[in-house]
Amino acid sequence: MSSREKIAYLRGLIDGQKVADTPEKEKFFAALVDALDSLAEAMEEHEEVHNELNDYLEQLDEDVSELEDDLDALIEDEYDDDDEDYEDFDEEEYASVTCPECGKDFYYEPAAYEEDEDLLCPHCGKPFKYPED
Ligand SMILES: [Zn+2]
Repeated sequence: MSSREKIAYLRGLIDGQKVADTPEKEKFFAALVDALDSLAEAMEEHEEVHNELNDYLEQLDEDVSELEDDLDALIEDEYDDDDEDYEDFDEEEYASVTCPECGKDFYYEPAAYEEDEDLLCPHCGKPFKYPED
């Protein structure tokens, strides 16, 4: 039985058993039932607010979870990008060489050149043989 039902049951008892046989008692029981009604109403309002807060918190929790997922995805993307950048410049595939003409360093890919092919300096544009060591 809910609070409302219990109060209604009590009201039925008071009416049915003619408990309030004087105007004074009638007034007393009416006030008693009225007080209980107010109490039940306050409880219901409290419960409503509680449920609203609960819904709000659940929604907030969901939003935070989504944000966390987005953030994780972003961080993962960033990490992947860095990884690719690093792979683009693999030190094993590239060699550093100093141009004998202008003295500037540059990177080239040994695998892309024939053994007796001239290297072309990107700074001064002059071809030269890679010094064998
Ligand atoms: Zn040069």
